[in-house]
Amino acid sequence: MRSRRSFLLSAGATTAGIFFSSSLARANSGYRIAQAGGPETPNIRLGFIPIVESAPLIIAKEKGFFAKHGMTGVEVLKQASWPAARDNVVIGSAGGGIDGGQWQMPMPHLIHAGIITNGNPVPMALLCQLNTQGNGIAIAGIHTGKGLGLDISEAADYIKSFPETNGRRFRAAHTFPNVNQDFWIRYWLAAGGVDPDKDIDLLAVPPAETVQGMRNGTMDAFSTGDPWPYRIVADEIGFMAALTHEIWPFHPEEYLAIRADWVEQNPRATQAILMAVMEAQQWCDDPANREELVRICSSRTYFNVPIDVLTPPYQGNYEMGDGKPAIQDFNAGPLYWEDGRGSVSYPYKSHDLWFLTESLRWGFHARSLPDLDTVRRLVDEVNREDLWREAAQALGVSNIPSQTSRGTERFFDGTVFDPQDPQAYLNSLKIKRI
Ligand code: CA
Repeated sequence: MRSRRSFLLSAGATTAGIFFSSSLARANSGYRIAQAGGPETPNIRLGFIPIVESAPLIIAKEKGFFAKHGMTGVEVLKQASWPAARDNVVIGSAGGGIDGGQWQMPMPHLIHAGIITNGNPVPMALLCQLNTQGNGIAIAGIHTGKGLGLDISEAADYIKSFPETNGRRFRAAHTFPNVNQDFWIRYWLAAGGVDPDKDIDLLAVPPAETVQGMRNGTMDAFSTGDPWPYRIVADEIGFMAALTHEIWPFHPEEYLAIRADWVEQNPRATQAILMAVMEAQQWCDDPANREELVRICSSRTYFNVPIDVLTPPYQGNYEMGDGKPAIQDFNAGPLYWEDGRGSVSYPYKSHDLWFLTESLRWGFHARSLPDLDTVRRLVDEVNREDLWREAAQALGVSNIPSQTSRGTERFFDGTVFDPQDPQAYLNSLKIKRI
């Protein structure tokens, strides 16, 4: 396996200058899963980060959906951080790591191509989207009354002139570079005329350290996920500038992806996992189950937060602070199965394309991801919407999308992303690195 992969890698590198091993990743395409016979193994080790995105994995285990589909030995393992999750999937379960789990985007693509794994590609299979929304931009309380809301165009000068008044630049944090939380805050800043690379300091910082910095006046903004936004407002550390629901309603958020070698060796187990997660996602979206969901996820094993901190976001109740009206809308909070645009769980290729087009916009990984052709190839290698479809059919799901594109996406500032013409989207943006 190793030598074959090395061969593919060097062949790919020679011809295209990139590090994709497409033959390996696609080796099981066209495989039809036998109706008879259970999963090849009942065991898999899946990583999670203690934020609302991981709920379908936790619920699939705790409510018995994994076991129902024969996956009686699934371990759902808390990861100390995003870098730890990445390092653990590189190791794999054989080495004491994980086989896959929850990811910000496009981490599976970056791991697959070796871009964030020291040039060591670990082919990945993107299997389903875990959730939409549930994230937001929090601002330190010292900025109350400065106009830091959804549209910050009126406050852009306040942010840009920060060094003159404070002796340092405006500082903002996310938890891992070049993925969702980085993209959300960059999009929000740039839409208001603030260049995230030139006008402020934007850094990857652990959540606890960021919140401490917001308390003591050394950190100004935090791009984060539930339940952190609620805690920041409830503890009077700051306020919410915007929910990601306001920036891009029903946007793609985090995903389930597993090592492609595991998927290849265990196609029936992969389908069983997908069916279990889909059932868990349906369970999570039933308002009648949210109280139990909060009880399960708030426990020490999982998020380790008080029930009253986790309850409001799961009811769609967001105190925004800074004089903004509270948001009370179940459909503005985290959703797992269905939203205002249809399926949440189905992994649209058009969404992978947006995350990687946005990577081009900001000049991330410019050597490995130089253009849209490379991006499209990477999407086709990693996205396994075909496996999602097979599992959904086996489960009898009625809302299976007919296309791999969700169609045109609209952002709060009027910007349009047409998946058929990502170049037009790039052309339309004022602040960009290309
Ligand atoms: Ca997130």
